[in-house]
Amino acid sequence: MKKTMHPPPPTHTPPTPCRAGKVYLIGAGPGDPELITVKGLKLLQRAEVVVYDYLASKKLLKHVPQAAQLVYVGKMGGVHHAHTQDEINQMLVDFARQGKLVVRLKGGDPFIFGRGGEEIEMLVEHGIAYEVVPGVTSATAAATYAGVPITHRQHTTSVAFVTGHEDPTKAASTIAWDKIATGIGTLVFYMGIKNLPIITEKLMAHGRSPETPVVVVRWASTPEQQSVEGTLATIADKVQAARIKPPALIVVGEVVSLRDKINWYEKRPLFGKRILVTRTREQASELVHRLEDLGANCLEGSTIALVPPDSWAALDKELHRLADYDWLLFTSINAIKFFFQRLTEIGMDARDLKGPKIGVVGTTTAEFLQGHGLRADLLPEEFTAEGLAAALEKEGMSGKKVLLPRAAKAREVLPETLATAGAEVVTVPVYRNVQPADYAEVRQALEEKAIDLITFTSSSTVINFLEMLHCADEAEQQRLLDGVKIATIGPITAKTASQNGMAIHIQPKTFTIPALVDAILAYYASRR
Ligand code: SAH
Repeated sequence: MKKTMHPPPPTHTPPTPCRAGKVYLIGAGPGDPELITVKGLKLLQRAEVVVYDYLASKKLLKHVPQAAQLVYVGKMGGVHHAHTQDEINQMLVDFARQGKLVVRLKGGDPFIFGRGGEEIEMLVEHGIAYEVVPGVTSATAAATYAGVPITHRQHTTSVAFVTGHEDPTKAASTIAWDKIATGIGTLVFYMGIKNLPIITEKLMAHGRSPETPVVVVRWASTPEQQSVEGTLATIADKVQAARIKPPALIVVGEVVSLRDKINWYEKRPLFGKRILVTRTREQASELVHRLEDLGANCLEGSTIALVPPDSWAALDKELHRLADYDWLLFTSINAIKFFFQRLTEIGMDARDLKGPKIGVVGTTTAEFLQGHGLRADLLPEEFTAEGLAAALEKEGMSGKKVLLPRAAKAREVLPETLATAGAEVVTVPVYRNVQPADYAEVRQALEEKAIDLITFTSSSTVINFLEMLHCADEAEQQRLLDGVKIATIGPITAKTASQNGMAIHIQPKTFTIPALVDAILAYYASRR
């Protein structure tokens, strides 16, 4: 018999990437993007490829470097697989072989009903380097965010995580229903919504009391969280009546009764309120953070994007003769931002502003200016352009030279009032408002009546918002805004809104973001 011939040894070694790739299997946490671990976040910030699932919060992707490749391999309740598990496994191997730092991001914890084990086995087989970063699993998050301590000395000493996805018609169940029904204190079922009637029946049939409290929690730890409470006997009907769909968890056990006392998350004052915040992308965050802290579910409809003016020539000219001016006025933080951006670009800095006195429109503007190392000389009592004009008139404007850097399109009340009072006012554009192209998400939310409240923080947010809705006529606008409450930051914005056919429900006494938030709270408190 002929001896097996071995192929000759290769004359050259195959090219190896300059550095070896590595796969980090990371738990994204249950839903709230802030519940990822510090380690997971740091790795995301260095990722070159991110392969992520349906349940991993999309908000986490904003931490990924711009140049990174994002691959969605979504899985929704076992259906709509964008990629098969084999394809995902192969993808991880391939990216790592290209020398990439690969983050495999999964909802909750990757090793709890996440098929993380299978993905790692494949990496081991191919000799790929890897690490696993655990995550907050949705079971503990759902219990916590529904006000249920998953264990408690007075109620239970054991807890089990169980799949609710097992084919209920399977003759030989791999779940030991007889043992878990009464042998374990708290039971948490993943992927069990469809099978809920069977799960509760099995538990009762194997001796668990029908009175055992149960809570079902959907989209736990997110602003969309919904929970339905009942007992083993009643929960299936209640969940069906509430039309709860996946993803949701079923928490069964005496600890659920503690929810009455410690349901901290759902008791926040704006919980469940869906608020559309119309602001520039740059500015929306403060308002959004405050509202979200109070439990609101915010949709950011950026009605305005801010860009530099068509030309800097007008500002440049005035910057070189700042010493001629008596006053420099800022009526928005955007004006300050773009003004300083240009000042720095042309090699000047705050020291060049020592000549003129500086006036601002309100405390927010004053604080922002302070951030640039400058104290405002004048702050009006009323935080509007009219208020600033009145304060300046008191200072005496006759013969004074005033520089007003501002938006390309702006109200004329301030320069006109000052000119009438005898000042020479020079306005220069430092930024322009442009409308972001895509407003489809906002429109759809309004169509679906998924918005409770809209906030407007300037007249231009009102006007741009309406323009972007593209309503055919007033009737369509009325239909879209029917039932939606409107909050405006101040009287000018309110006037613009009402002139455009909106009824104003919320209007703070002082015209700041914190005051607007307080007014929103007071409004809902009075209706409770
Ligand atoms: N690895 C994940 C579980 C994936 S299995 C983890 O550790 O959490 C998918 C199931 O998890 C869903 O069917 C649902 O039962 C549960 N789940 C995941 N995120 C959830 C959330 N935010 N709220 C409620 N259930 C969730």
